[in-house]
Amino acid sequence: MVDIKSVGVIGAGQMGSGIAHVCALAGYDVLLHDVAPERISAGVKAIEKNMTRQVSRGIIEPAQMEAAMAHIHPAKELQDVGKTDLAIEAATEDEDVKKAIFKALTPHLAPTTMLASNTSSISITRLASTTDRPERFIGLHFMNPVPLMNLVEIIRGIATDAQTYETAVNFARSLGKTTANAEDFPAFIVNRILVPMINEAIYTLYEGVGTVEAIDTALKLGANHPMGPLELGDFIGLDTVLSIMNVLHEGLADSKYRPCPLLVKYVEAGWVGRKSGRGFYDYRGEAPVPTR
Ligand code: NAD
Repeated sequence: MVDIKSVGVIGAGQMGSGIAHVCALAGYDVLLHDVAPERISAGVKAIEKNMTRQVSRGIIEPAQMEAAMAHIHPAKELQDVGKTDLAIEAATEDEDVKKAIFKALTPHLAPTTMLASNTSSISITRLASTTDRPERFIGLHFMNPVPLMNLVEIIRGIATDAQTYETAVNFARSLGKTTANAEDFPAFIVNRILVPMINEAIYTLYEGVGTVEAIDTALKLGANHPMGPLELGDFIGLDTVLSIMNVLHEGLADSKYRPCPLLVKYVEAGWVGRKSGRGFYDYRGEAPVPTR
């Protein structure tokens, strides 16, 4: 097994900052990189805010927070991440973006660096093939919000070797997470099931079967879901939901995965959910208000 001491995180959005958070708390040195420098500082601020909340709830001690924050280092250049033991890519869910990151990173990698992608849906085998080490490449699919959610889905590409797999499982366990193995098919397990449900909820809205409020109330009280599907879509990010539907639609060539035109329209409007302030709900006021 590879001894992991340092972790590079590429993409400092909701997922990248969450991954950096749990890695730092587990004692790993973390380098956090984003193409947009202001996202790195925003990511560090978000980690600080979330850890402060954990301290106030008694989940972690103030000393643990202090030690963890000292483990997090902003990395302005992508190449800095290449020297870590494990580089985890958590950038925008777009195959071209991810491939370009791995291509640019490869010449700067230390010989033993392991690579992972947090992609929700894109082929690990295809992403791995853009690097010089597909045998040391794996899918580590964390759930949102990372500090709260216990699962990490582990996806081996066709070339991933046993050592990489064992190291990845142990790494996820060292963060206090439980793992589930998924084969490398579009959207793996969680999103193969979850995201078509969200897309179906959007069709239900589009066809006028129910309002935003009725659909979310129905699933929360009728199926005992902690969040309604439209609320959940906003939480994930509607751009990510659309990307996953497109990967399912193209990858499985089945019309049952066609993205709802209303989902496309929201993404085109830039109403991608919580992170942009508006989606199926408007989050700019005190309480979320349905936008339809
Ligand atoms: P996000 O929009 O919050 O963050 C994406 C970040 O990537 C942004 O800060 C952006 O500036 C950065 N980025 C874009 N291009 C980059 C580049 N070339 N180099 C470095 N950084 C770049 O999105 P997110 O929700 O954090 O999703 C990130 C990844 O995690 C996606 O692959 C997504 O599918 C996956 N994921 C998301 C969820 C979820 O619920 N949102 C859950 C599991 C996995």
